[in-house]
Amino acid sequence: MSIAQNISQFLDEVKTYGSTLIAVSKTHPALAVREAYEAGQLDFGENKVQEMQDKKPELPNGIHWHLIGHLQSNKVKYIAPYVHLIHSVDSIRLLEEINKEGKKNNRIIPCLLQVHIAQEETKFGADANDIRNWLGNRSLESFDHVKIKGFMGMASFTTDQQKIRHEFKELKQLFDESSKHYQSPNTEWATLCMGMSADYKIALEEGSTMIRVGSAIFGNRTYQT
Ligand SMILES: *Cc1c(COP(=O)(O)O)cnc(C)c1O
Repeated sequence: MSIAQNISQFLDEVKTYGSTLIAVSKTHPALAVREAYEAGQLDFGENKVQEMQDKKPELPNGIHWHLIGHLQSNKVKYIAPYVHLIHSVDSIRLLEEINKEGKKNNRIIPCLLQVHIAQEETKFGADANDIRNWLGNRSLESFDHVKIKGFMGMASFTTDQQKIRHEFKELKQLFDESSKHYQSPNTEWATLCMGMSADYKIALEEGSTMIRVGSAIFGNRTYQT
């Protein structure tokens, strides 16, 4: 199947759940992004600032760029003028930096808090308990150039479907709890971003409103990042 065919199939599938598709284009050339864009895909995810910076000028302005990978504070300035959504906010220090760059650019930058839901040690993200503390202590409220739109999480890399489902359920629960009990001017609980090529179907069943799909659209990456 071509990239264009994959896109139209995924768009049909997410539509039935009222969910949004992020096409993860990391390691794939601008030409592949263009093919997906021409098939109707608007939202693209990159996990590295440099790669996003390199591709963006080669592609239509209307594209929504999502930063889905770990973000270092000193790189926020490069993407602050245009980034559509930052998925990987895992510390207050990073949120503070995004806020500062939002102010400089006269923007309110949409963000997701990345929650560590996998049992593996290697994945980034804040622990659910950190998140509860931040919200409970109202530690995020003073940042008026960011908008916290929800959570992003990655399940364990495993074939154990029950385990994956359980991790997604926990994130959904945290999302429901947070949106019910925590409101502030810079919060808008709209997005629960979970699910990738291998587990997006489970994620959709468990209430994901945004999935991040790379290899199932663009094919295998020649190197993993
Ligand atoms: C690479 C990546 C994806 C997409 O992975 P696939 O398995 O290719 O769908 C999703 N989310 C993040 C954070 C990624 O880095």
